[in-house]
Formats: sequence, C-alpha cells, structure tokens
Amino acid sequence: MKQPTVGVFALQGDVREHLQVLDGLGVRAIGVRRAAELDRCDALVLPGGESTTMAKLARTFDLLEPIRKRLADGMPTLGTCAGMILLADRIEDGVAGQETLGGLDVTVRRNAFGRQVDSFEGDIAFEGLDRPVHAVFIRAPWVEQVGKGVEVLARVADGEAAGRIVAVRERHLLATSFHPEWGGDDRVHRLLVDLIPD
Ligand code: GLN
Repeated sequence: MKQPTVGVFALQGDVREHLQVLDGLGVRAIGVRRAAELDRCDALVLPGGESTTMAKLARTFDLLEPIRKRLADGMPTLGTCAGMILLADRIEDGVAGQETLGGLDVTVRRNAFGRQVDSFEGDIAFEGLDRPVHAVFIRAPWVEQVGKGVEVLARVADGEAAGRIVAVRERHLLATSFHPEWGGDDRVHRLLVDLIPD
C-alpha cells in the first residue's frame, strides 16, 4: 500500500505533537497552511488551540472552503479540543458570529468544563479500544447533543461532569474533547489512519 499523507492544520494550535504521533505511525505527516498542502492529504487533523482564531485564520488563508469541501467529500478527519469545535455543526457559548467548518452533526459547548475546573486529566474508557485512554482536557468543550448518525465513543467517568460526551464519530469524522496527542498513546490517531481507504 502506498504511504498515506496525513495533514495537521498548522495555522494555529498544538501542531508539533500531532506530527510526532503521526510520524510514529509510519504515515507521511505534513503541516497544512495552504490549499495546495491540503490537496496532498489523505486525512487531516484539526488540533487543539483557539477555535475562533483558527476559524479566522482559515478564512484569511483561504483554507476554510477547501477544508469544508474535503470534509464533505469524505476525507477522514480527527478534531481534538478546538478541532472538535471546528468540526461541529452547532456551537454553544461560542463568540458572536463564530464560524465552524462543520460536518459533524453535534452541538458542542465551548469551554464547558470551565465552570467546574479548567483543566484536568484522567483515564477514560474509549469504544473500540481495549484499554482506557489517558485524556488531557484543557479548557475543553464537551458534546451537548448528538445527531442520529453520531456514535458516542467516550464519556467522562466520574466527578461533576460524569456522563458528559467527550469523543464521537460520524462516518469519516472523529472528534475528542481532550488531547490524545499528549501522553505517548497513538491509538486515537491510529483510528484516524485506519479510516483512510486503501
Ligand atoms: N477553549 C478553546 C477554544 O474554544 C479550546 C481549547 C483547546 O483546544 N485546548 O477554542
């Protein structure tokens, strides 16, 4: 099989960590700042960062529409934290006029854990993975509501936010509230790579 290329949206956010995990999986990992770079990608990661800034930069650099088109055409994509917000069709607690790429039929609440605790980590069970994932949450969103075709992959296990949805999949789109790129675990990225057709 030819080596697939996986892009990491690189206008803002924690790009390097994702590139490292992807490198470790044996795919060609590239930063994406231009539409021409996106064209080379078989799959994409939308990293954590600041979702409003990321959306604005994507528009400024003429990446918003090209990414939307690829998402609609079925490009496997993983959104983590701010990246999850960018994939969501609907946002609660966004800033006025906040744009998303959309494609994922969910409502995501921005900075959702902030009312309880800004940032925390813990091990959470993840559908399809044999052992829990060590999840790092930083001013993270959660999924408030899911559409019919959306599979829930993980929920917060305990504490005040117990039961909140923090990982989902809808066809070729994967999203996590947390940062799977930290903590030396490549299994969530492997799920993305496995979505790339041969
Ligand atoms: N709170 C950020 C946002 O709304 C996301 C935080 C993150 O990606 N770590 O964009």
